[in-house]
Amino acid sequence: MNYAEIKEYDIANGPGVRVSLFVSGCRNACPGCFNPETWDFDYGRTYTLETEDRILRLLMPEYIEGLTLLGGEPFEPENQAVLVGLLRKVKQIYPGKSVWCYTGYTYERDLLHGGDKYTSHTDEMLSLIDVLVDGRFLLAEKDITLLYRGSRNQRILDLHPRSADSSGTQAGAVDAVEQIAEIARGDSGWK
Ligand code: SF4
Repeated sequence: MNYAEIKEYDIANGPGVRVSLFVSGCRNACPGCFNPETWDFDYGRTYTLETEDRILRLLMPEYIEGLTLLGGEPFEPENQAVLVGLLRKVKQIYPGKSVWCYTGYTYERDLLHGGDKYTSHTDEMLSLIDVLVDGRFLLAEKDITLLYRGSRNQRILDLHPRSADSSGTQAGAVDAVEQIAEIARGDSGWK
């Protein structure tokens, strides 16, 4: 997988201050796309173990609310295979931080069993995502006043409503240094 950009302090794509990963590769080809260079799967840099380690470290500060995946298209099958490993670690190390993901595909039609973008990784990926913003960007439905989405047809889906108890954030922060050190030592299962 390649990626276009990592934003260390993103306040536009989900609540709070977030780390955002813009992956490369998208087959949706929405007219008026805000990021057409990322349609190319070879655009940007190669995503490596070092990239993953950097993202995990960037998530560490308490003021970072969580991770957002966008692109490009996180649910292209090639990208799912890599991102599911990242999300597994994010949820293991930071159980109190939220994961948001933007997709041009439609949850019920494309991402559930039998859908065009359903792979052996999709169920797990969806289980690790808290909020999915789905649907193609439609120029005719564009509305710059919308929060966290570009066009009115897009939906903000809370896949797993979270407990109001925020104690997980503290526990995740305490364990983070040791777990990231393990990952840096190569005991991560990343491939
Ligand atoms: S899904 Fe997103 S990145 Fe892909 S073409 Fe549509 S707006 Fe652009």
